Amino acid sequence: MLLWHTLGTFFRLRHGKRIQKIPLDAASSCPNRDGRLSTQGCLFCNAQGSGSGMGAQSFATQWQRWHDKYTKTDSNRAFMAYIQSFSNTYGSVARLRALLQAVQCLPNCMGLALGTRPDCLNEEKLALLASFRLPCPQPELWLELGLQSMHDATLARINRQHTAAQSEAAVRLAAAHGIQVCAHLMAGLPGEDERAFQQSVLWASALPIAGLKVHNVYVCKNTGLEALYRAGAYFPLSRDEYVDMLAHALPFIPSHIVMHRLTGDPAPDELCAPAWAAHKRPLLTDLHHALTARGLWQGCKADVTDKCPLWYGR
Ligand code: SF4
Repeated sequence: MLLWHTLGTFFRLRHGKRIQKIPLDAASSCPNRDGRLSTQGCLFCNAQGSGSGMGAQSFATQWQRWHDKYTKTDSNRAFMAYIQSFSNTYGSVARLRALLQAVQCLPNCMGLALGTRPDCLNEEKLALLASFRLPCPQPELWLELGLQSMHDATLARINRQHTAAQSEAAVRLAAAHGIQVCAHLMAGLPGEDERAFQQSVLWASALPIAGLKVHNVYVCKNTGLEALYRAGAYFPLSRDEYVDMLAHALPFIPSHIVMHRLTGDPAPDELCAPAWAAHKRPLLTDLHHALTARGLWQGCKADVTDKCPLWYGR
């Protein structure tokens, strides 16, 4: 039995099937990299900005490659586009419009998840995003927003170059446009303890978000964080510590919030530490056991206090 509201459950209940995200690289930039705010980037981010390196290819080419691969093993799978790397709403409205139009031309595309920073949004861009349509019933639209922490001191320490107030304003404005927001938070940020992480979880959960993506901080090669790590000035969380933090946090997250992810997704050649971050399945198994042993589930200290909702699924 599942003890939290997974994205798989959300898709199954809404569409009756699994939806596979296909990563698309839009060759976007970021104001925290191109010099408008900074050239250093966030402490944990490398120059690739989580990109696939396929940004020189059209969306159609990237899409076809992954689509063919996945349909070989399961011809009934449905798909949605995931434009993740860098800050995809940075730049002009015309650029964003062109990205959305390119997604609308992808065959068998049931939705879009678009990643960006809170300070790269405005009324016009959100109105454009809210008007995004696809030729299918109930297309998915998710805005993935990197909030990371509610603590301005942490945001400054990791060189985010935006504040928690900007994060909050962006979430509220997107939600006011009817856009589902998936907030991103990180556990184990430099200078933060479990209490600080828990505060960020409670803060984000009280915002009008529909989803949450949480992962432990992992050290990528060629980042400012790697320099701190090698100097002995940063210690990543152990797997047990992270599992414990999640087991404490999930009970306070209301059941309607979809947990898009609880693990990081480091590229194998980029990961410096901790080695356990490369293995998602054992972490989720440990978390399940920790919650079961303590009689806990997502929302048990929020809105579903009696018993774990059966609709979370199996
Ligand atoms: S905002 Fe995103 S892309 Fe830009 S530097 Fe930070 S993590 Fe990297």
